Amino acid sequence: MSLSAVHSTLSSLKTCQADIGTGMDIVTDVALDVAETAGTENDAVLKKLEVMMLECDVAVTQSEVNFTCPLTQVEMVNPMKNKKCNHHYDRDAIMGMIKARQNQKKKLRCPVVGCGNTDVKQGDLILDQIMKRQIQKR
Ligand SMILES: [Zn+2]
Repeated sequence: MSLSAVHSTLSSLKTCQADIGTGMDIVTDVALDVAETAGTENDAVLKKLEVMMLECDVAVTQSEVNFTCPLTQVEMVNPMKNKKCNHHYDRDAIMGMIKARQNQKKKLRCPVVGCGNTDVKQGDLILDQIMKRQIQKR
């Protein structure tokens, strides 16, 4: 693993982040990680960068990022992303809704207006670490 490989990955990541105009803090964090681990765990760091670049692509397609939970109408603390429809909800709010519906033996439809996902399951939800960091750093 050469240092130039890390540099080229970093520069393309920065270009990508510049496209969405946010997340430079995240890039800086990663760059610091690279500096700290230089020469030891470069492979692991590069993998991390690749993951971040994938996340970045997703962020670009969702350039109008909305941090408001569709359930509580307040800014999310633990944004959970629905893998099926890519909508976000605050963890406590959506888990509460899912449980309530389960008790009634009913499916929960995505609370986002106009969304066609009629079956929101706990297994479809993943904590969106990138968005969580973006919210925290605002
Ligand atoms: Zn949805």
